[in-house]
Amino acid sequence: RATGKVYPSTDDGKSPFFSGTLLDITERKLDEQRKNDFIGMVSHELRSPLTSISGYIQMLNIKAAKNNDETILDIAGKAKRQVQRMLTLISGFLDVARMGEGKIKLNLKRFDMAALVKEAEDESLATVTSHRVVFKPVVFTPVEADQDKILQVLTNFINNAVKYSPKDSAIQVACLTRDNIAYVSVTDEGMGIAPKDQPHVFDRFYRVESERMNTVKGFGIGLYICKEIIARHGGQIGVDSELGKGSTFWFQIPVTS
Ligand code: ADP
Repeated sequence: RATGKVYPSTDDGKSPFFSGTLLDITERKLDEQRKNDFIGMVSHELRSPLTSISGYIQMLNIKAAKNNDETILDIAGKAKRQVQRMLTLISGFLDVARMGEGKIKLNLKRFDMAALVKEAEDESLATVTSHRVVFKPVVFTPVEADQDKILQVLTNFINNAVKYSPKDSAIQVACLTRDNIAYVSVTDEGMGIAPKDQPHVFDRFYRVESERMNTVKGFGIGLYICKEIIARHGGQIGVDSELGKGSTFWFQIPVTS
């Protein structure tokens, strides 16, 4: 529709009309960059003193063990767990900052996805006592991928299933191959995710607003990191969920020959 306004053209003949949008995108990119820098810097600065504290706690532990001081041993143990939690959080933030800058490098090698699922199984059996984690039998599935990072994705799915589903409920882990694609899924019988939230749970810092969010701790970065890791592998990630019934988080990457 003609508005009667005349937009002057620039030297190269392009209308400056679009410069608003371009500037906007550049601004947003800069904004993202600043956010990344900030997250990276703060995380880095927090990590050093925490690592020192961790060392001091270790010294305390050794001394308390020598003196058979149960009280100090107990307190040191608790302090160590809290410091470890903070260090894990910080390493998540550092991952987010690196992802934002596209700095995460993959260490690709050929391995069997079924063996990796088995590794997650051993880890779950040792650590998860609140839920029944069930692993479906898996067959040899060769992939070329970053083993640690793929395990990180799977562990994240399992940890979320534990966090967002009731005690004693079942969590099913499956791995299958179809049309040369390895497909890994984690299904829980938890609170589920509303259709409007489903497309956003993989966004950076996104958390579904609900009552339980007040009690379940988190920053909304785990699934963002998972999404980036799978994208770098040329794979796909997603969720199928029904509110009040449960969720299936899945990812797929190509099988290698
Ligand atoms: P965090 O759990 O630390 O908040 P994530 O990135 O792992 O961060 O998850 C983002 C959000 O997605 C969570 O805050 C939660 O609202 C939702 N979510 C993730 N996994 C599940 C699940 N298994 N069941 C229900 N909601 C989930």
